[in-house]
Amino acid sequence: MLRAFIAIEIPLEIKKAIAAQTASLQKETGHAVRWVTLDNIHLTLKFLGEISPSSVELLSQSLQLECSQYAPFEIAVSSLGCFPSPRRPRVIWIGLHAPAELTQLQHKIETTVARLGYDMQDKPFSPHLTIGRVREQISADESLHLRAALESKIIDDLGSFSVRAIHLFKSDLQSSGSVYTSLYSGDLGSYYAEI
Ligand code: ATP
Ligand code: MG
Repeated sequence: MLRAFIAIEIPLEIKKAIAAQTASLQKETGHAVRWVTLDNIHLTLKFLGEISPSSVELLSQSLQLECSQYAPFEIAVSSLGCFPSPRRPRVIWIGLHAPAELTQLQHKIETTVARLGYDMQDKPFSPHLTIGRVREQISADESLHLRAALESKIIDDLGSFSVRAIHLFKSDLQSSGSVYTSLYSGDLGSYYAEI
């Protein structure tokens, strides 16, 4: 079995802009947060969980079919936020101005993989780039300090990028952390390009 998810890759310039604008926050919060390495920042569309290697082929074919019916689109990146809330930060993320195309594409992927037997997500899609996870065991002091740092942090515009493909990734947990490998990449809009 392998751990898999469907996601959009983030261009290096955007990741570098995120790193530059969160460097001071990373320094201030020290040990309280496990920051995501630049390589691992991505936009998850659908978490599949454990899948059998033999289902990669069918998933890839379905993704290709869906992707080809959507034209490439732009996503603007901005803002800092936390799940479940800034007062109780667990996951620290960068928000996106999600165009309708992104919501439609995600919904299409959700229903397509549901037809293949994967669980449907009951929560609404909330597009974000996870950049850090707050550690479980932090002191009350560290927690106060973290909240204050997050509340006072202002992020400027981080630019925008064009989404041209989506990927089926596998995730391997190694001693250094999770390592993602693209198993399949489907281009958006190839259907239009072919006519
Ligand atoms: P790590 O778990 O090592 O901290 P990670 O969460 O980035 O790293 P995975 O757990 O393999 O790595 O997750 C891959 C992607 O799927 C990430 O975007 C993660 O947020 C998302 N994900 C993981 N588990 C779930 C879940 N139960 N529901 C929804 N999305 C999930
Ligand atoms: Mg995880």
